[in-house]
Amino acid sequence: MVEAQRAKILRRLERANKRSEERIRRESIKGEKRFERQVRRLMERVVDKERGLSCKYCGSRNLVKYGQCQGVQRYFCKDCKRKFADNKALPHMSTSSIQVASALSMYYGGMSLNSIRRHLEQQYRNYPSDSTVYRWVVRFTKIAVEEAKKYKPEVGDVWVADETVLRIGGKKIDRLKKGVWFWDILDTKTRFLLASHISQSRTLDDAETLMDKAWQRAGKSPRIILTDKLGAYLDGVSIVFGRKTTKHIQVKGFTGL
Ligand SMILES: [Zn+2]
Repeated sequence: MVEAQRAKILRRLERANKRSEERIRRESIKGEKRFERQVRRLMERVVDKERGLSCKYCGSRNLVKYGQCQGVQRYFCKDCKRKFADNKALPHMSTSSIQVASALSMYYGGMSLNSIRRHLEQQYRNYPSDSTVYRWVVRFTKIAVEEAKKYKPEVGDVWVADETVLRIGGKKIDRLKKGVWFWDILDTKTRFLLASHISQSRTLDDAETLMDKAWQRAGKSPRIILTDKLGAYLDGVSIVFGRKTTKHIQVKGFTGL
């Protein structure tokens, strides 16, 4: 009877663990997609800025907006008195800035020129060559790097906190004697290291210090904090963030994140 109950509890625990692992995986995928979108929007801005806007016929920049047609902005050229639609093409380029921007964000995301080209074919029915895609990268990277410096990615709502004992020469330092602990807390969405903390103790103060640093860096509280089974964290979470706003979840095996 006792055995049966024990097995039941174990099964329930196992299921709970699986569910939380699944949730972490989902959150992390969602986060990556959001980050990709952010990069793409950034690249669109970069490309648009570089592109400027000039009259399709005479090249003048002396333009006024002239209503929209099927969602496309139209312009009136004050110099040659002609109207034209903004097809978002770059000067001397036939491809729209949206396509160039998504090509660039794919390139920075580690995709090969060949797969970027295939993606543009499928998505936009556009057939640039590898060298064309490469020329976009060369042309916009310098500006993109400058822009990215000003850019601060939004930190997500799920953070992971972890602590490890520092090893010296492959040997674990004795925890009971002078253990050195390395603490870190990471945002699952952006994979940003929000804070780290090194201490010789593993106390509530340490957890608090870590959480406080993370909070200052991010400028916000997380919705969920995932930690391993360490009591000090629990109190650290509630002291810094308040029990109501931040949910604290202890899980096993999230280190694969
Ligand atoms: Zn004109």
